[in-house]
Amino acid sequence: MNTPLNFAVMGNPIKHSYSPRLHALFAKQAGLNIHYEKILVPLDGFEIAVKTFFEQGGKGLNITVPFKLQAYELAKANLSPRARLAGSVNTLWMKSGHLHGCNTDGIGMVNDIQRQGISLENKKILLLGAGGAARGVILPLLETGCRQLLIVNRTATKASELVQQCLTDLPQYAGVLSAGGFEQIQGQWDLVINATSSSLQQNALPLPTGLFTNNSLAYDMVYTPENDTPFLQQARQDGATLTSDGLGMLVYQGAESFFIWNQVRINPAPVLEALRQELLAG
Ligand code: NDP
Repeated sequence: MNTPLNFAVMGNPIKHSYSPRLHALFAKQAGLNIHYEKILVPLDGFEIAVKTFFEQGGKGLNITVPFKLQAYELAKANLSPRARLAGSVNTLWMKSGHLHGCNTDGIGMVNDIQRQGISLENKKILLLGAGGAARGVILPLLETGCRQLLIVNRTATKASELVQQCLTDLPQYAGVLSAGGFEQIQGQWDLVINATSSSLQQNALPLPTGLFTNNSLAYDMVYTPENDTPFLQQARQDGATLTSDGLGMLVYQGAESFFIWNQVRINPAPVLEALRQELLAG
């Protein structure tokens, strides 16, 4: 067999990462011979780790907590528009001797929602949270042609600053994008996304009732084996019938990285199904 192409995910901690499993399943489907490993990088050793990886012939890197901002800085000369607006990078590769960076989290989430048969064109979207994950999904959400995107955050000023920054780069969305605090949420929404870490802390969010219509989707970026989180439970109690955790986001962001590196489009749906079964089996 030919020499494998080398990939890795870098983070600290990194033990929990499903990326090697995901990419092994993608490669099997694509008929590619790859080697994908987890690299635990010291907190002060990210730049040298990236340099060494590519000097040794590495083809592509995924980057996770806490290095996404440093990856952005390293690839600053060659960022995709998604990475530039997200302000962080989760995918690195070399091209013509230069480091390039993209952020595939947001497009991964949008693709996961669309595979569920949901179009976001002309829809009202409520995004909860203004941290790195929220920031990463803003441009892909706006590009769906949604009618309204309201970003609310526990610290409301953070949401306002984020929206102001985005509108400086994307003034054409001034009528679509707005910010506020939880107390400003009113009316019904087609899509409510939890991009806060509240579900990790098992906390309910201070949401008003009556947010969901019969066809609204409640989406939590956090995932669990059972596709259930405190936010999704809260949403169901408020009448949401469509609920989704973030496992699909993880799989679909990986598929976008795989495409950037290998120029091969795989079908992520069976990989998502396989990963869900593996998580349920423990
Ligand atoms: P950050 O630390 O950058 O931001 C955390 C956000 O959560 C802030 O907006 C913070 O508000 C808010 N928050 C935290 N606790 C609470 C609470 N109890 N009530 C209300 N708001 C709260 O984290 P990230 O943005 O990087 O990640 C957010 C979540 O998204 C994480 O749970 C992460 O696991 C998940 N994620 C999932 C991915 C996937 O592929 N499925 C990919 C990336 C992230 P404040 O500003 O007021 O502190």
